[in-house]
Amino acid sequence: MRSLIYNARLVATMDDRGSELAEGYVLVDGDKIDLVGRGTLPSRVPVDVLMDARGRVILPGLVNTHHHLFQTLTRNVPTVQEAPLFRWLTELYQIWRGIDAETLDAAVRVGLGELLLTGCTTTTDHHYLFPKGTGRLIDVAIAAARDLGIRFHPTRGSMSVGEKEGGLPPADIIQDEDTILADSKRLILEYHDPKPGAMTRIALAPCAPFSVSQDLMRRTAELAREHGVRLHTHLAETLDEEQYCRSRYGYRPVEFLRELDWLGPDVWLAHCVHLNEEEIALFGSTGTAVAHCPSSNFRLGSGVAPVRRLLEAKVPVGLGVDGSSSNDTSNMLAEARQALLAHRSGDDPSRWLTAREVLWMATRGGARCLGRDDIGSLEPGKAADLIMVDTRRLSYAGAGSDILAALVFSPWPEVVDYVMVNGKFVVQNGELQGVDVPRLVDKADRAALALRKGKH
Ligand SMILES: [Zn+2]
Repeated sequence: MRSLIYNARLVATMDDRGSELAEGYVLVDGDKIDLVGRGTLPSRVPVDVLMDARGRVILPGLVNTHHHLFQTLTRNVPTVQEAPLFRWLTELYQIWRGIDAETLDAAVRVGLGELLLTGCTTTTDHHYLFPKGTGRLIDVAIAAARDLGIRFHPTRGSMSVGEKEGGLPPADIIQDEDTILADSKRLILEYHDPKPGAMTRIALAPCAPFSVSQDLMRRTAELAREHGVRLHTHLAETLDEEQYCRSRYGYRPVEFLRELDWLGPDVWLAHCVHLNEEEIALFGSTGTAVAHCPSSNFRLGSGVAPVRRLLEAKVPVGLGVDGSSSNDTSNMLAEARQALLAHRSGDDPSRWLTAREVLWMATRGGARCLGRDDIGSLEPGKAADLIMVDTRRLSYAGAGSDILAALVFSPWPEVVDYVMVNGKFVVQNGELQGVDVPRLVDKADRAALALRKGKH
């Protein structure tokens, strides 16, 4: 089936040349992009479906590189609204310990729905919470992602060092390391699809230096490399973490990773707020990628990651909304604007991030974090993941001289109008397809309330 989306106000391809095509078209053949161009399609090309994109800007689907979908049910918890990371974590563990398959299912569907509605077509999920007796929670998330039709990179997270052993989490939400590794291997064998166009890929992701052992980090890296899957973790998020690493291991966080053979082109790291020049250069020389999460970093008072310097060192940088307990939304569009504004505090405007750099991070940078060259741009042969934003809105009126930048400078619409993943529209006219949203919200609200009352 060949669908032609034509007459777009602009097609921003995010290809290597940064092509921006006024009166553009995109021809989709099945699950792939076939042609992208300007004006009218050559008449010899057969087409089954025509879609007029008048007034709309077409972009590649956005890529979210860091998230914890389970946290959707613990947004905006009053006791941690003003808490920095370590206190925020230790208080929320008390609620999160009640999460089970049913509550997770609601949380994941809400988070994925928000992501799709805000233009995200590929997301990761860092799931590290396995309360005793809960079983196969990542399988629940994968099933929900398949239902909603989003491209999904769940990461098998882990926590194995509890309070008694000097870590942060309580004993009933950590797992023993053999169990973690066995389940990691099972998930890879059952779900990981290395082929181009894959809808599901697994990565391995011990939670953070303060909740796993060095031995688990080493063994996880070995397992990942044996199976050709990627590695992910939180790193250098706060000065408390730096202090923890120095006192427990005698290293700064990046040195801690280097000693464990955890830097390289198969690794992407969330946050990386507190890096020195040597560490930035090390990321560049090893090809280690960074998931930049500005909203979460602001929310927890963690600081601002040195993104300009990372980009100068040729470090692949993607954008991440991070979990909804530290961002309170899974809105990729809002994250792009946050990234634009986060890097404007210096007195040298030539070092500020531009709207196009932010869009690059949200698409191509994200694809690089996830090790993919088949998503992130609108080019023949790539996966048919695209979004359409109708610019005939009051918020864009008067911004016509650079409508692409306007998408980042002006607050984005609450939802984008059309979202295609793998050749299929999963959002149409700003509505999630096949999801009863009021019913889902009701289910999530009830689950969230029960969780906070400790009834699970
Ligand atoms: Zn996180």
